Amino acid sequence: MHDEGRQLVVAVDGPSGSGKSTISRRVAQALDARYLDTGAMYRAVTYAVLRDNVDLGDAVKIAVVAEGVELSIGTDPAAPQISVDGAPVDQEIRGAEVTRAVSAVAAVPAVRALLVAHQRAIIAEAGRIVVEGRDIGTVVAPDADLKVYLTADAEERARRRSTENASSHAATAADLARRDRLDSTRAADPLRQAEDAVVLDTTSLGIDEVVERLRGMLDKVTA
Ligand code: C5P
Repeated sequence: MHDEGRQLVVAVDGPSGSGKSTISRRVAQALDARYLDTGAMYRAVTYAVLRDNVDLGDAVKIAVVAEGVELSIGTDPAAPQISVDGAPVDQEIRGAEVTRAVSAVAAVPAVRALLVAHQRAIIAEAGRIVVEGRDIGTVVAPDADLKVYLTADAEERARRRSTENASSHAATAADLARRDRLDSTRAADPLRQAEDAVVLDTTSLGIDEVVERLRGMLDKVTA
């Protein structure tokens, strides 16, 4: 049995299409914990940057937008909601325009500093939470109780994403490869596996199987 009163932080990192969101939400539900999608926060800032017609090469203006924006994100794993300046943007942040621009915005150190501070405050308040992203185990929550790094073949990740977005496989594969490269090579908090993370390759694993494995690992760390 889990001790419901105890703080529990699960960090789930990995590239796009590795299964982070589906698996993190399912694990959070199983644990009766909160859920935080940090990618949605970078997407929401990107939405505001595009809305304000800011040049993606202008890090100073991007930082000004990030500082001025009122970002609110819910942590219910059944229905996470996000809003920018009081307006819901759940649909808008999943669009092609935001997806194309998000890695450039997420590479700006001032944006990361702001969002990492916001993420840490949400984690502290939640107590029990599954957090997914690129730098959770390395930067946001280095003391997490369990760190998981999900991977999957690039082909399989593109197949999953193109099914979700109803976009062509080739276009999705190219977008994923570009984002993987930008996210892994940026100077500030790149996508990287924490040394103490458990690596799980989800290429040929079903969702239920991955969720079960993670629950087994959690039983051990919370025993
Ligand atoms: O997870 P998702 O694909 O929605 O993330 C969108 C983008 O946000 C990533 O490609 C990455 O550039 C950025 N991101 C990040 N750090 C995180 C989560 C997401 O840089 N913790």
